[in-house]
Amino acid sequence: MSKPFCRKCLLDELDEDEYIRSLKDYISAYPQEKRCVMSEYRRRLEICAKCENLSNAMCALCGCYVELRALKKETYCPDFGDRWKK
Ligand code: SF4
Repeated sequence: MSKPFCRKCLLDELDEDEYIRSLKDYISAYPQEKRCVMSEYRRRLEICAKCENLSNAMCALCGCYVELRALKKETYCPDFGDRWKK
């Protein structure tokens, strides 16, 4: 039986597979009204995927998981000039 996800655990205490699963569950359950439209989400992630600041699914500038940051309607890319800006 796996340990329940704890938001306050340190990285050393986490099971990596469990953590990734929990993150994906969090993304799936994120409220529709706070999400950007799917086409915009995909566009943002395509930009992140080509960005030199992307490392292990995280943005080196803000420390966010980009798949979560890009999901939020009101967020922006933290790089100077905002790479997501149209
Ligand atoms: S959020 Fe911006 S700076 Fe960060 S990885 Fe994505 S495009 Fe690059």
